[in-house]
Amino acid sequence: MNDIEISQAAKEDPITDVAAGLGLSADQIEPYGAVKAKIKLPVKGDIKHSKLILVTSINPTPAGEGKSTVTVGLGDALKRQGKKVAIALREPSLGPVMGMKGGATGGGYAQVVPMEDINLHFTGDMHALTEAHDTLAALIDNHIQQGNELNIDPRQVIWKRVLDINDRELRQTVIGLGGRTSGVPRQDGFDITVASELMAILCLSKNLADLKTRINRIVIGYTYDKKPVTVADLKVGGAITLLLKDAIKPNLVQTLEHTPAIIHGGPFANIAHGCNSVLATQTALKLADYVVTEAGFGADLGGEKFMDIKTPVLGKTPDAVVIVATVRALKYNGGVNKKDLETENLDALATGSANLKRHVESMQRYGVPVVVAVNRFNSDTDAEIKQLLAYIKNDLQVPAFDTTVWANGGGGALDLADAVVNATNQSSTFKPLYQPDDDLVTKMTTIVQKIYGGKDVVLESKAKRQLRRFAKYGWDKLPVCMAKTQYSLSDNAKSLGAPTDFTIHVREFVPKLGAGFIVAMTGNVLTMPGLPKHPAALDMDIDADGKITGLF
Ligand code: ADP
Repeated sequence: MNDIEISQAAKEDPITDVAAGLGLSADQIEPYGAVKAKIKLPVKGDIKHSKLILVTSINPTPAGEGKSTVTVGLGDALKRQGKKVAIALREPSLGPVMGMKGGATGGGYAQVVPMEDINLHFTGDMHALTEAHDTLAALIDNHIQQGNELNIDPRQVIWKRVLDINDRELRQTVIGLGGRTSGVPRQDGFDITVASELMAILCLSKNLADLKTRINRIVIGYTYDKKPVTVADLKVGGAITLLLKDAIKPNLVQTLEHTPAIIHGGPFANIAHGCNSVLATQTALKLADYVVTEAGFGADLGGEKFMDIKTPVLGKTPDAVVIVATVRALKYNGGVNKKDLETENLDALATGSANLKRHVESMQRYGVPVVVAVNRFNSDTDAEIKQLLAYIKNDLQVPAFDTTVWANGGGGALDLADAVVNATNQSSTFKPLYQPDDDLVTKMTTIVQKIYGGKDVVLESKAKRQLRRFAKYGWDKLPVCMAKTQYSLSDNAKSLGAPTDFTIHVREFVPKLGAGFIVAMTGNVLTMPGLPKHPAALDMDIDADGKITGLF
């Protein structure tokens, strides 16, 4: 059976039962049908005594290598061992679902369900974010049209429009054509919804009041005399916040093995901060003893951002980090073509393992115990698995296990679960990568040298000019969110393995004052992806009875 057939055969527990397992009564949730619910806020409880396990990975191949699958399988394994556990994941974006990667509900026998709903419209959070974002865009242009009291320079509006689909045609647009009654013409463009600052804000807000405060802080552009203009200046913070009144509540579903899963928020880790919401993780920590959560793409992106951007807001650091590696992805990093990944190649595996080493070392810098999960594919040979496990245990001195959660559900990660529980019991002291009052260049250089293994950061002229302006506005000490390709540790997607001596090129910065960080756009990374030659959409269908095929 494939992923969708397995999920269609699932028999979910009523969502009220899943909630009850976490100690939530029926009046503490808002059911969306029988097997999905939103959790009402606030949720009472303490987060300190629960164990937080962060799942991250090596640099992925274009196919995705099973981080969500391992996250779900590890949660199920902990549940099988009698632990009170909750999984905290991100919500899928329709861009990858219809495009290349597919959904974000795990795979095989380690899935969250109902996968069709979660991957399509779920509880509507993505739509609410898209509407809220575009409402603000419309209000900005209306303000300019209606007399422009704030003196906004239409050439310096930085709040673009968004859509939750890969649509390269909309990257650069001209709007306001059609004469006096149709607005003020200006250059604009679309980002994908998951890159919206509102998504980042939703994921970093502690409650509704914090959401509103952060929305009011958003800088939408500049006046003709280069002063930042905020949402508060436009007086529309209340309206934008109310559009998100339900989206801010975490969503509750379950795995195939009925482990509770809180799925909420979904910024991409390459162009945004890549972590599910603080509220969801906090809720999970309040309700369960063990929380397994995931950060997007490799440890260089989602992992770093979890540590440096999310944990200060969360108020809790991970007790253990699990790094997911696959033989396939390491061989790809060792130079093997995508079409040859299923052929045994011990040399390429050895070469590509340098990529894993770099990620293990970078996560160890934070002072948190690291465990490696080798997500086993059918095409992996015993010799490859043996070589990889020996390398990790002997050379990297880190516990490592091959996991078969895709084939066996929680039963495929019982050893991993034991090792993770042991790791969370070790005494460890979290060491932040940089100090809050380091300037932006110091922060970026630290990330490049200590996490990516590179040499330096080079700012292109626009980025240099922006930095001078940011210093005047007092934004030069904010945390930095690197926007970088996920395929390489460097900013060149083709430079695989563990490159050294490279320079990261920052072409421009995007201030996200509501989220509380500055995005550094590196290389040629784009905030509106395109669809591939053969989008996943071509293989999807629904029959007259509503049965879906090809959604994965
Ligand atoms: P990631 O979170 O790293 O992007 P996912 O967990 O979403 O990856 O998995 C990506 C795809 O790979 C899914 O279709 C999933 O079913 C498949 N997959 C994951 N692990 C395995 C495995 N061990 N064997 C076969 N397919 C797998």
